[in-house]
Amino acid sequence: MTNHTQQLKQYDKTHVWHPFTQMKHYINEDPLVIERGEGSYLFDIEGNKYLDGYASLWVNVHGHNDSELNQAIHNQIETISHSTLLGSANVPSILLAKALADITPGDLSKVFYSDTGAAAVEIALKIAYQYWKNIDPVKYAEKNTFISLKEAYHGDTVGAVSVGGMALYHRIFHPLLFDRIETSAPYPYRMDGTPEEISARCLDNLESLLKQHHHKVAGLIIEPLVQGAAGIIVHPEGFLKGVARLCKKYNVLLICDEVAVGFGRTGSLFASEQEEAEPDLLCLGKGITGGYLPLAATLASEKVYSAFLGEASEDKTFYHGHTYTGNQLACSAALKNIELIRERQLIQDIQRKALVAARELEKLKGLAAVGDVRQKGLMIGIEIVKDQKTKALFPRDMQIEHQIILDARKRGVIVRPLGPVITIMPILAMPDEHLIEIIDTVHRAIKAVTEG
Ligand SMILES: *Cc1c(COP(=O)(O)O)cnc(C)c1O
Repeated sequence: MTNHTQQLKQYDKTHVWHPFTQMKHYINEDPLVIERGEGSYLFDIEGNKYLDGYASLWVNVHGHNDSELNQAIHNQIETISHSTLLGSANVPSILLAKALADITPGDLSKVFYSDTGAAAVEIALKIAYQYWKNIDPVKYAEKNTFISLKEAYHGDTVGAVSVGGMALYHRIFHPLLFDRIETSAPYPYRMDGTPEEISARCLDNLESLLKQHHHKVAGLIIEPLVQGAAGIIVHPEGFLKGVARLCKKYNVLLICDEVAVGFGRTGSLFASEQEEAEPDLLCLGKGITGGYLPLAATLASEKVYSAFLGEASEDKTFYHGHTYTGNQLACSAALKNIELIRERQLIQDIQRKALVAARELEKLKGLAAVGDVRQKGLMIGIEIVKDQKTKALFPRDMQIEHQIILDARKRGVIVRPLGPVITIMPILAMPDEHLIEIIDTVHRAIKAVTEG
């Protein structure tokens, strides 16, 4: 290790507070410091290369250092990097809004920009809440709460955590959070019955909640098709469609959080399309710029938007904004990302590769420690268990999943655990052989760690 490398690692341990990380343990480990990326690969400062099996936290679409995406950002830098959307407009944010309105499902036609998925969610929640107040503050005086799913994840700001359902992130902040109503989520591996029965049960639960509480509910927020952070929990077919139907029936706004599943991840450009769900509000983030720059967007339907129109004195204005809203560099990257997805026929390619992945994943089912293998498009979760029959987990202190991902890293593949689940989130444009290598490496790592 050179002095420079050593010094960087030391500064990292001394000064950088990493997200979701127990720093007491982190500073005793050898940090992975990424220096550059190329296609499917990440390179660290010591020159080691790794296949990026988590798409750099679920964001990367076309691979690292893509010359066309780079060029689009360069071109924009040479023009202007940032001006504000408060009181003025800018070219890339206009063109991107038009493109998003064209490609998103239903009649979503209004785009509110922000820079991180959690903010896109906060904005959707505030719009949904104010929508009812703008329409009729007396009639809808009580529509002040939200329904979300058990184990839901919608980001880490206080409002987004409020509609989250993961106890681990919730517990400590509980006094700061607003109330929500929790509805059950279909998790076939750990529930009794067929997926159809489980889905029907969950929808019954939702309907009885709505029957009782709809006058208090402004909106329902859901991660369509797959609950990502909960451990890649794939919902049975028809569940989203049922949820959308119930929202309509009980006059509750449907908010689809496609921050993780949007932009091709599940095999269609947007996950909501697969069940013809037409959200009133849609949250986008992560893959929107191809994973190059931070950007998020909240889309609203014509119906929602029009409730905010009125005379200045009526106070129907949406009082919300962020300093970097509509940033030109980020919007240019997003525009190019959308263009390249179309040009490179990426959606068809993802559908084909999902089948390649499914075939490879079959081999993992032979391992004693693999309880469940879940997949939707190029979103993969492998639930690790101590006992396949009882589905019991390994003791938490063993950190078995952490050992597995470290073993995979030694073999040149980066993947991440979510609780007891090893997740594989390949770069969407990754060639077949890299995808196969990642799955094969995870197979070896699980075997090495759990079978010795
Ligand atoms: C990642 C994620 C978010 C939060 O996005 P950030 O950019 O991390 O704020 C929100 N919702 C879902 C479903 C996510 O996966």
